Amino acid sequence: MSGLAALLMVCCLVVMNSVAAAGLASTSEVRVWTACSVLGLIAVYAAIRSGWSRRFKDPALTLAQILYAVTCCVVAFVIAGPARGVTLPILAIILMFGIFGLTTRQMLGVLVYSLVAFGVASGVVAARDEPDYPPVVAAAYVGMVVVVLLSSTFLTTRVQSTREHLRRQKAELAQALEQIRQLATHDDLTGLLNRRAMLDRMQLEQRRSLRSGSPLLIAQLDIDHFKAVNDTHGHAAGDLVLQSFADTVRRNVRDTDVLARWGGEEFVLLLCDTPAADAVTLMERLRQAVQAMQVPVPQSGGPITVTVSIGLARHTPADPLAGTLERADRALYAAKAGGRNRVVPAPCLR
Ligand code: GH3
Ligand code: MG
Ligand code: MG
Repeated sequence: MSGLAALLMVCCLVVMNSVAAAGLASTSEVRVWTACSVLGLIAVYAAIRSGWSRRFKDPALTLAQILYAVTCCVVAFVIAGPARGVTLPILAIILMFGIFGLTTRQMLGVLVYSLVAFGVASGVVAARDEPDYPPVVAAAYVGMVVVVLLSSTFLTTRVQSTREHLRRQKAELAQALEQIRQLATHDDLTGLLNRRAMLDRMQLEQRRSLRSGSPLLIAQLDIDHFKAVNDTHGHAAGDLVLQSFADTVRRNVRDTDVLARWGGEEFVLLLCDTPAADAVTLMERLRQAVQAMQVPVPQSGGPITVTVSIGLARHTPADPLAGTLERADRALYAAKAGGRNRVVPAPCLR
């Protein structure tokens, strides 16, 4: 944008100096005007290139550039003599830059500034008492300046409101997408990863473990006699127990471990980078934490307690993930068969 503005400025310099060369404007005035314009251009270039302008909200300095360009345009209007008509399309182009970089309030500020500046300029032109500049032509210029300024401001506010609308729509879409992603990967009741998302995560952790050689363990957790909880206290109380269970497990494992609701009252825990011996101890602590858990249920007379059975298996690089899951499941079955409320490591862990 700044490059384009600079190109526009160079064209104006060429036009103004041609006007002076043709004897329509004072050469000394055009020289001073040229020097000021070029200095302004260099100052903006230096401010942007040096990074100095990064301290502002708009590092392109759009407002400052537009105000400076309007000022140059107004001075050109005064000194260009009978050729002053060339400044009007330039003014329109300058204001077009505002469409992209200015807020509606800033654009209104530019409008007021430009109206005042051109009002002053018209007075100065009248005072210079130029020949061949009848009042009707002066009035026509003033009229055109007002039309250019008002229509540019109107267009800017229209574009701004369209951009604002698009920005809001984009934010809403992003939010909806995030909601859909959450729904597709998480369980509604507990907020844990669902089975599909967990399978994806397992594959990721499997590759990581293969690369780093760190151990990867899978635990299958199943709440004991959960059907009885539903039957005795109702389905809503059962839901509360599932939520408390998920919270308890989450609190008792590391942030890097991944917990998912596998289905119903079954959960899968992925232990990343945990040695097998530590994992058995950790699962035992988890079992005790679940046993100590008391779920207060309204209108149920006393809190509900449950226990959990856990099967634990270590993933070996030679094995597919499904094989490790199956070994963990078999260990869980053994825990159930052995009387429930216990941790059973798969044979390779013992
Ligand atoms: P076991 O000790 O052998 O695991 O017995 P169990 O009763 O826990 O196992 P079973 O598979 O017989 O029963 C599981 C129950 O979990 C049955 C089902 O209604 C209940 N259940 C599954 N999903 C939900 C849920 O989202 N909310 C509630 N409240 N109950 C659920
Ligand atoms: Mg169960
Ligand atoms: Mg079950």
